[in-house]
Amino acid sequence: MRPATRFVTDASLDQLARRLRFLGHDVVTHRGARLEELFDAAAIDGRTVLTSSDRHPKRYAAIAALRVPRGDLAGALRTITEQHAPTSAPWSRCPTCNVALHARSTFEARGEVPGRVTRMNVRLTWCPSCGQWFWPGSHVARLTAWFEATLDRPIPRPESGEPA
Ligand SMILES: [Zn+2]
Repeated sequence: MRPATRFVTDASLDQLARRLRFLGHDVVTHRGARLEELFDAAAIDGRTVLTSSDRHPKRYAAIAALRVPRGDLAGALRTITEQHAPTSAPWSRCPTCNVALHARSTFEARGEVPGRVTRMNVRLTWCPSCGQWFWPGSHVARLTAWFEATLDRPIPRPESGEPA
């Protein structure tokens, strides 16, 4: 059984972190943080350090770290998702801010998203941190296809997800 794992990383793994958040993984990014600072943050918050660095300073021996090679997005995603369960449902977390998205009505979305989106009558979500709106459009369809090809398993669509 894969345990749910919360991660902390730096901006060098931004693309991986965004993809993981789409799948519901809790990944905090500390921009510009040194490796030691990532370990400090992990210790305070009970997180696992996600890094492409080979270093694991001795004084942080008790802190879990997961090493992924840089430049192999698909391979890294496979490794992580095989060993670690997400903390929430796919499409329920802002890919930029890592916070839980809120469900929003079509009425609330008027003027905020293109009219064709509100007319589609799909599930709309909104990030309370950055204010970005999300809906199951072509970007989500492309990402879903990429996830399914990469992980070789079906990924639930946003429409069938739990309400945020
Ligand atoms: Zn956000």
